[in-house]
Amino acid sequence: MIRRIADEILINGKAYDNLHDLTKKIGGRLSGSPQLAKAEQWGLKIMQEIGADRVWLQECMIPHWIRGGVDKAEARYISGKKLLDVLALGNSIGTGSKGITAAVIEVKSFDDLESKKAELKDKIVFYNYKFNPTFIRTFQAYGDAVQYRGSGPSRAAKYGALAVIVRSMTHSTDNNPHTGSLRYDTTLPKIPAVAIGLKDADWLSAQLENKKVEVFLKTGGKFLPDTIGHNVIGELTGTEFPDQIITIGGHLDSWDPAEGAHDDGAGVVHTMEVLRAFKALGYKPKHTIRFVLFSNEENGLRGGHKYADEAKAKNEKHIFALESDAGGFSPRGFSFGGTPEQLKKVQSWIPLLYPYGVYEITAGGGGADIGPLNENLKTPVTELAPDSQRYFDYHHARNDVFENVNKRELELGAINMAALIYLVDKYGL
Ligand SMILES: [Zn+2]
Repeated sequence: MIRRIADEILINGKAYDNLHDLTKKIGGRLSGSPQLAKAEQWGLKIMQEIGADRVWLQECMIPHWIRGGVDKAEARYISGKKLLDVLALGNSIGTGSKGITAAVIEVKSFDDLESKKAELKDKIVFYNYKFNPTFIRTFQAYGDAVQYRGSGPSRAAKYGALAVIVRSMTHSTDNNPHTGSLRYDTTLPKIPAVAIGLKDADWLSAQLENKKVEVFLKTGGKFLPDTIGHNVIGELTGTEFPDQIITIGGHLDSWDPAEGAHDDGAGVVHTMEVLRAFKALGYKPKHTIRFVLFSNEENGLRGGHKYADEAKAKNEKHIFALESDAGGFSPRGFSFGGTPEQLKKVQSWIPLLYPYGVYEITAGGGGADIGPLNENLKTPVTELAPDSQRYFDYHHARNDVFENVNKRELELGAINMAALIYLVDKYGL
């Protein structure tokens, strides 16, 4: 059966074409944007065409943050001026139309911030915390560094800083800034924050050695009122246990400066491809399988919460959930958040997945969108773990585009996801 799934996807696969349409015909899909609404209709139509038993939209209120124009930064230093490549962080307030000009103070860590707290008033704080190159699994480096983006702005505001510049969370050798959400501490003043590319970050750091640098920042981010969004859901009804649900999904929203190809167009088309392959092979699952394109993962997770809240309210039985939200690269494994006994069982299937690239299933994990299902209903959750070396070259940056996704690697991800869903459906956990 797994060989048949693989052949179907490798010969007749539609994931790559679907990714093309999602990224090139629709584009970046920030929550509240017309593109996200367009993507919902696109996903709905494709799942109907594939022939899911039931397809529907699950409404949820989503935040509506807008970038409000092109973000600008210029360094003014002793011997001249230099434009810096920056992107406002998601959920950041703007600088106002006049912008902010202030001296920059570099900090290398939160400890460094605390030691310099008396000097931060009316400054722009530059968090130059390096993405740790010694972690082989780059998601560990991300987990380590992302706190500077998430809580760095408020921690600097606490000591009177006017704005924040954060070194991008990437190993990339280019200069693209990488955006992503910040979270304001509502007890502190909100200050604007931007991400800066690595070359400019290194240049700024070098300039600041014993010299004064002022930066002019101008950004226009703001929140409009919450708006209506939808999870897009397709379903294959179970033949033996229709009230026991397996969920597979990715998130439909993405950051605005790019096309959201790896994050998370790949997860969206993986999800639809598993549905397509099952239908093409005439597979009739024992359990009900839900194919979910989640709304608003990036700056709110409202779609994931809505899905889990409704599941709980309706007393649904969710036996397993699988997400793809780590890129469209060659699959290497799955991360699994369940009991040790369940982990042992899924690990016993590795020899069946091995020919298609998966060689490990590690403890802990599961995607962001299915996290609430695990919290609400204790559903075991799993995430596809593709090779991570290139993921943060593109993550939340303007080069997360269709051209940077490889067709074969994308298809292999869908094969392994379909195989795992098949195994859980057939043998249970
Ligand atoms: Zn994502």
